[in-house]
Amino acid sequence: MGVPRFWREQPHRYRLEGTRCTNCDRVYFPPRWVCPVCRRESVGKMERHKMDGTGTVVASTVVHDPAPGFEDQVPYAVAIIELDEGCRLTTQVSDVADPHDVVPGMRVKSAFRRIQSDGASGVIYYGTKFVPLVEQGSTPS
Ligand SMILES: [Zn+2]
Repeated sequence: MGVPRFWREQPHRYRLEGTRCTNCDRVYFPPRWVCPVCRRESVGKMERHKMDGTGTVVASTVVHDPAPGFEDQVPYAVAIIELDEGCRLTTQVSDVADPHDVVPGMRVKSAFRRIQSDGASGVIYYGTKFVPLVEQGSTPS
């Protein structure tokens, strides 16, 4: 599947948009339109919820063998991130000196970054990636 189609079909990923149950306040990402806890749609309504975009790395791996279009980015880190809302997603983590620096427990935040360039057409695609989060009050080492 090409990247343009991928992003078109996953606008929630692009905007990091989930849903929130107005009955129990639980947040879902990827978005769900029926709350699995409250179940009955009549109990609560689901509304769109923009995720804060901050989270913690749960697991990570370093990719040396890229998908087509990502050749100029290897090696890069792909991680499972648990968002502070409690939802998990798999995403690329960039802006690190060494992709091996991306380790479980690391705090990250979403950022708008170049996802892929199409060398043939010169088109560059942007979307959400994750980058290291520097907590307020701490200094980067
Ligand atoms: Zn609910």
